[in-house]
Amino acid sequence: MTVKGIIKFRISVKGEKPTTIKMDLEQETKATLENGAEIEFLDFDADQGYDKLLLINMDSPVKKVKHGSLIPWGESIYKRECPECKKGILLVVRDIKNGKLLANDQCILCGQRYEYTDIEELNTGVY
Ligand SMILES: [Zn+2]
Repeated sequence: MTVKGIIKFRISVKGEKPTTIKMDLEQETKATLENGAEIEFLDFDADQGYDKLLLINMDSPVKKVKHGSLIPWGESIYKRECPECKKGILLVVRDIKNGKLLANDQCILCGQRYEYTDIEELNTGVY
């Protein structure tokens, strides 16, 4: 095992409700599904290029995008796939003072900065 951190799977079996499983790889690597099936995390192909993407766009100019046009990441209603590196995540952060979602965001992998042009709609739940 060479991986640390938290991973999330979504498992869909035909005819059954999809199950989401979260594993903290430092704690456990096995999980049992509701139907009794077991999954075990073995390893992953480390040569997927993630390390090559780390912060490569950090100094690129801010890109204006519509949050609503981006590909959702996982089951979150806010998280989006980074359109620049296609592997990183845009988390969408809140102003700690007033709880409003902020227009400025940054990919956690490639570091590309974004400005959501539809933050008002996102905050008011229009879409
Ligand atoms: Zn990215």
